Amino acid sequence: MVHDLIDQLYQTHHLTHAQWVTVLTDYTPDDQAYATQLAHALTIAKFGKKIFFRGIVEYTNYCRNDCLYCGIRHSNHQVKRYRLSKAEILACCEDGYQNGFRTFVLQGGEDPYYTTEIFEEIIATIHQRYPDCAITLSIGESTKAAYQRFFDAGADRFLLRHETASPALYRRWHPAYQPFEHRMQCLKELKAIGYQTGCGFMVGAPFQTIADLATDMVFTTEFQPEMIGIGPFIPHSQTPFKAYSAGNEQLTLFILSLCRILLPDVLLPATTALGTVQGNGRQLGVLAGCNVVMPNLSPLRFRKQYLLYDNKAGINDDAATGIQKLSEQMQTIGYQVVRSRGDFQPRKKEY
Ligand code: SAM
Repeated sequence: MVHDLIDQLYQTHHLTHAQWVTVLTDYTPDDQAYATQLAHALTIAKFGKKIFFRGIVEYTNYCRNDCLYCGIRHSNHQVKRYRLSKAEILACCEDGYQNGFRTFVLQGGEDPYYTTEIFEEIIATIHQRYPDCAITLSIGESTKAAYQRFFDAGADRFLLRHETASPALYRRWHPAYQPFEHRMQCLKELKAIGYQTGCGFMVGAPFQTIADLATDMVFTTEFQPEMIGIGPFIPHSQTPFKAYSAGNEQLTLFILSLCRILLPDVLLPATTALGTVQGNGRQLGVLAGCNVVMPNLSPLRFRKQYLLYDNKAGINDDAATGIQKLSEQMQTIGYQVVRSRGDFQPRKKEY
């Protein structure tokens, strides 16, 4: 039954909500192996045995938001807060550039210190200094006008995980001043502006059911993102969700494979969270259909202050070490990390 539904997904790139529930509930190890094999073949057909790498600059851990799962939530008063100056952000980019990075991902909490003007100026300077590089933003919710200005200043891509497409679950994870509707509106605006846009969600977060994950797959199908960020939930000891268990690694890998089959061209990172729940998680992610890894370019002295969850992988590796370790990990499974920008490239719609 699940095998047939995976075939249907492969052929039509669509399942109903009820069918997603069946797939995610009834799958056996054999079904997962089948999905992995299809996803792996699709990834190799599209990208070869090549992995794109992006350098993440975690430029601020200040955040006005209070997501109940997140270690840098506003109410966590134990976090030592930091923010990087423009010069420090540029130094991270230079370090990354020298080490072969051609995409910079600026990621941070929602920090009002960086006004539209300040952030626009930072993007414009990176764009001028590194015209051969892509700039990805992962900076949370803002206004359409600000998103447009960042795009005009040279930003190419935007990662904004929708977190969950179930409004009731979203409300359990976020305070009332962070409405579900606004996050969804932001995603639509980003796409309309022309960003390569990424949505995504955590797997195994508190109160999440299989029906919620099915809703995420339906939303992902409708939204047609250029990127998808998916990782297991991992508890952080200073959050209200500290007592909950981490998400299941196998279910996360299965969902990654299903995403590849759903959207064969999508840019799909093997996330740090996946590498945190299991040492070889990123390699397993690549073998399950991922084609992107995102080593950290943030200054080492701040790494321990940007902890979204406990035991985060890679917090002691500088840019050169991070990329070297990932290259070796990829080589052991027969893959090569490549220095291109790695933009989204849709094939002609024959699927
Ligand atoms: N503030 C930006 C935003 O809201 O998109 C970007 C930073 S936010 C911390 C990046 C992502 O981390 C979130 O979208 C969320 O899915 C993930 N995250 C936060 N806490 C997590 C946890 N405890 N386990 C796994 N992932 C988590």
